[in-house]
Amino acid sequence: MSGETLERLRLPKSVLKVSIPVRMDDGTLRTYPGYRVRYDDSRGPTKGGIRFHPQVNVDEVQSLAFWMTFKCAALDLPFGGAKGGITVDPKELSLAELERLSRGYIAAIADFIGPDVDVPAPDVYTNQLVMGWMASEYATIARRRVPDVITGKPLPLGGSLGRDTATADGAFHVISTLLPRLRETGELAESEDGEAPSVAVQGFGNAGARLAQLFAENGYRVVAVSDSRKAIHDEEGLDIGAVRKAKDDSGELPGDQGEEIDPESLLSLEVDILAPSALENAITSDNAGDIRAGVILEVANGPTAPEADDTLADAGVTVIPDILANAGGVTVSYFEWAQNRAGVRWTADDVADRLKERMVTESEAIWDLAQDRDVTLRVAAYAHALQRISDAVDATGLADDFRDTENAAEAL
Ligand code: NAD
Repeated sequence: MSGETLERLRLPKSVLKVSIPVRMDDGTLRTYPGYRVRYDDSRGPTKGGIRFHPQVNVDEVQSLAFWMTFKCAALDLPFGGAKGGITVDPKELSLAELERLSRGYIAAIADFIGPDVDVPAPDVYTNQLVMGWMASEYATIARRRVPDVITGKPLPLGGSLGRDTATADGAFHVISTLLPRLRETGELAESEDGEAPSVAVQGFGNAGARLAQLFAENGYRVVAVSDSRKAIHDEEGLDIGAVRKAKDDSGELPGDQGEEIDPESLLSLEVDILAPSALENAITSDNAGDIRAGVILEVANGPTAPEADDTLADAGVTVIPDILANAGGVTVSYFEWAQNRAGVRWTADDVADRLKERMVTESEAIWDLAQDRDVTLRVAAYAHALQRISDAVDATGLADDFRDTENAAEAL
């Protein structure tokens, strides 16, 4: 790998700040700040979600765009990395206000995105509905349908089967691939009497709820789940079907399943697998010392603060990094983009098979690299991705090539 790649990755390719004026239902005008950062496009058009959250700021968006660059490379998707967001609490808006905001954001960034340039997708507090509005707004601006400009769309607008469950499905393939290896190396203790591995899931949204369901359906014991309001715990294993139904029906975790615990204490439960699936910085230097899980499956982006990593490593906690663990979402986003470009639709089985194949292959490669080099899975995942980014950067020539080649004929 050349130093030129690191030099290229020191700064983002472009950082766009926009303002989005929205006519509110009461007639007043409000202006929201929005961002789109394209970090690196050495390997292809940039790709990354759009987040609606009160804490969105340009630094956060830039970090997320950097992660996307490595995530796409780690999974060998032909994309660079980007991310976008609006600083807004979407829960305070009416649905019509949310639509105007979503369309306004696309109008503001339309000149900077495109199927061969930058391809947005959903993230926290954005979903298929929002992507549908955004695709429709882009079509209005471009005066033609451009389904491959955005992924995570509703099915009738060119979405892919399997996109809504892809992040959790991918995370489940990763843990299923690595679990036997973790047991073999002793990083995860064999369960007593063949008892099902125990799991705690922080965050019960798109990714977390589906992942909890997959664990439960596959014989794991999901002992605790939480959302932004509360956490519930049952050492015997929660009935995740009932919890999901209650959450879908009422928007809240149920009061009649398990016992309510302090959401922060979910993180320090003694479980085999802890799956932080909410927001970044759930595990920091303040609480890393309290973690008693064997393995952390990072479903959220950046749930472990960098300074907590060393504490976890010293305590023998294995972290399966976000750029691998949650890459199922962007992988099926890539499948959606590929289907849109080819004008075809894959079956649900096609999507599921291709997702599994890719998640298993890259999990194995990252595991092997970590074993060979005696590094953490996070370091191995970044090294694996960096090698691919570097291959793309190096393919256009390095300083030494230019210095050592006297005239072009020598290189041709
Ligand atoms: P979501 O908005 O559907 O769900 C987030 C959940 O986290 C909600 O249940 C919310 O109540 C909960 N939450 C918020 N703060 C919490 C706290 N302090 N404690 C406990 N729970 C809390 O979002 P999502 O799409 O499921 O994404 C979750 C994470 O996964 C994010 O970090 C996102 O970047 C990452 N991710 C999502 C996808 C995807 O395809 N959805 C893909 C890759 C990564």
